[in-house]
Amino acid sequence: MTEPLASSTIPYSRVHPLMNEVAQQAYPTATLYVVPTPIGNTGDVTLRALHVLEMADAVACEDTRNTAQLLNRYGLSKNLIAAHQHNEREAADKLISRLQAGERIALVSDAGTPAVSDPGARIVDAVRRAGLRVVPLPGACAAIAALSASGLVDDRFHFIGFLPSKTKQRETLLASLCDMHGTLIFYEAPHRIADMVKALAVAFEPEREVVFARELTKLFEEVHRCKLSEAEAWLSADTHREKGEFVVLLQGAPEDVAEQDADAARILSILLEECSVKQAATLAAKITGAKKNALYEMALKMQADSCGNGEP
Ligand code: SAM
Repeated sequence: MTEPLASSTIPYSRVHPLMNEVAQQAYPTATLYVVPTPIGNTGDVTLRALHVLEMADAVACEDTRNTAQLLNRYGLSKNLIAAHQHNEREAADKLISRLQAGERIALVSDAGTPAVSDPGARIVDAVRRAGLRVVPLPGACAAIAALSASGLVDDRFHFIGFLPSKTKQRETLLASLCDMHGTLIFYEAPHRIADMVKALAVAFEPEREVVFARELTKLFEEVHRCKLSEAEAWLSADTHREKGEFVVLLQGAPEDVAEQDADAARILSILLEECSVKQAATLAAKITGAKKNALYEMALKMQADSCGNGEP
């Protein structure tokens, strides 16, 4: 929300000729409206978002100062209710009472779509459980913007969001993603991007395509695509590249992985009769060319399964 687009204090919602059309839709009372806000460029708010923000009796937001500033850019001033990750449950109770009294409340986060790696899901859950209506507005989301410009042609995608910061948990999660078909979408903070790329390079095949979507909609916007094996070098070639906000997209596993997995499982099961899990994974990696870590995880699982079946 840093790019200056307009200095006007006249609400856009009053001046745009399409606002009559926007207002044709029903905007029921006693409803929570989930409203995406820009991920950088203030111009990426929708006309409906402005309409709802303007008509809302209150705006529930992650950070009242940020939202006050954003609304001010659109010439709006609203009653704000703090609803962040540390008070979502209490905030939900407060919002439910107000909604039951017939108010329209807009829910926003600091940037992008609420509940997407942002607070909001618990509030929406509580409001729905209370039997109240929730209306989503489509709008800015870093993951979707990045995907649309990635050129990755997997038919599916999986939104992973932020990886765990603890090494072991991160490795376990990445190992579980190795065989997934479909583009994997990650969020990452600038101070962790280098570590994240290293972790991806260990967990996935070097020839997979990776896309860095950096500072989307902002001055230094950049979308770079390369092989995973080239990613660390690209990132470290310019110190500016480790700054700003990132979406990282990784090509999914090729469709024939299931067949490769079946081969690997067959080889591992033979080796596990004679060797330890570690030895079996090492030998199977040499035989199949697959990643040792993934084979190790597979061998552990096979061993656990066979123990669960009462086999030695
Ligand atoms: N709710 C937001 C959405 O809909 O995208 C995501 C919020 S999450 C707390 C913030 C993360 O989203 C950042 O660390 C980054 O990974 C990604 N992100 C947000 N804005 C971005 C931008 N302008 N360019 C690239 N990534 C961005």
